[in-house]
Amino acid sequence: MKKIIIGNFKMNTKPSELKPYAMSLATKTKGSKNDIIICPPYTHLSVAREFLTGSGVAYGAQNISDEEKGALTGEISASMIKDLGATYVIIGHSERRAKFKETDRLVNRKIKTALANGLKVILCVGESLQIRENRQAYAFIKKELDDDLKGIYENELDSVIIAYEPIWAIGTGKTATNKDIIKMIETIRKEVEYLYSEKAGKELSVVYGGSVNLNNYKKILSNETVNGVLVGGACLDVDAFAVMCRENY
Ligand code: PEP
Repeated sequence: MKKIIIGNFKMNTKPSELKPYAMSLATKTKGSKNDIIICPPYTHLSVAREFLTGSGVAYGAQNISDEEKGALTGEISASMIKDLGATYVIIGHSERRAKFKETDRLVNRKIKTALANGLKVILCVGESLQIRENRQAYAFIKKELDDDLKGIYENELDSVIIAYEPIWAIGTGKTATNKDIIKMIETIRKEVEYLYSEKAGKELSVVYGGSVNLNNYKKILSNETVNGVLVGGACLDVDAFAVMCRENY
């Protein structure tokens, strides 16, 4: 079964490092049935365009402004990344929510801007350890989905991938158990079913992220309800990432 394999470089690597990475990934994953997406920093996108166009690897950005253009020093718009051939954008990553104080309202605006510009959205949702320990994880994720997807039409969900990323699992080496991942992904499907329709919940693309690596990716992806993985640290090693990308699931 086809899976979605996403690599998030975060603020690692230099633009000059992307050429060998991209060429190697494109070669090693040639013929793979999976959807392969990398999200390097903005500064790498023109390199991605040069070396990934026509390959089986798509690319996107890790963030965009909620505004289209204007006096917003330092911001990058959806149309700018689209102009560089990006087809995806990560929105609402927990690092942006925590460190840059991004609210659900802002995340919602960014999703609308991305979709209006023809980009596909990788929307990250996930609970903190405290929320999980207080047994509020399910209610928290439902509320995040309600707020983040407000005003998004059902026919636009084809362009949205939900990434369930428990914050306590990101970069910590601790993954959620398969049972927890499946239970939360089913909760996400049910909430989308409640917000839209049974079909929308069933057809929604939902991936898991949080310390996915070569030792655990197969087990995580073994369940049908898990449509893919979002890989941070482990995607920086192109050989390891290529193994996950070319697997026949
Ligand atoms: C991430 O960047 O969203 C992520 C899940 O990182 P890591 O795989 O390093 O936990």
